[in-house]
Amino acid sequence: MTFVDQSIKILKKNKYKITGPRMAVLNVLEEAKIPLSAYDIEEHVPEHIPINVVTIYRVLDVFETLNIIHKVHTKEGYVRCDFELQKGCHSFAICNKCGRADEFLQEKCDLKSTLPKKLAYKSLSHISELSGLCEQCA
Ligand SMILES: [Zn+2]
Ligand SMILES: [Zn+2]
Ligand SMILES: [Zn+2]
Repeated sequence: MTFVDQSIKILKKNKYKITGPRMAVLNVLEEAKIPLSAYDIEEHVPEHIPINVVTIYRVLDVFETLNIIHKVHTKEGYVRCDFELQKGCHSFAICNKCGRADEFLQEKCDLKSTLPKKLAYKSLSHISELSGLCEQCA
């Protein structure tokens, strides 16, 4: 199943409508090799589809909540999740030179369990990012 098909399934399951802007952003992220900002995404959306950066941010918010995509802080961009809804920590190795972000799964991460009890946070999530040089750039 492609990233777009899988995402549509997750959106429907969570009672979100499949709108034009949502489809446009999914299509751009499916093709993206490096993390993209909302502005990058706007540039990649075909011109006949009316969309603006505010709409794109709203779409990205929904996708991030559903774990369809991740925000990569090192690159201030968004990438599709390669491990949809799989348990574990979704982590990234990021190349400082070409900007590619390779997702990998850390199955046993106990960072959450180290949170002090007095910090009573719910629904915690986190992304780990490692940066360096990829095979091609090294
Ligand atoms: Zn992921
Ligand atoms: Zn590289
Ligand atoms: Zn973790």
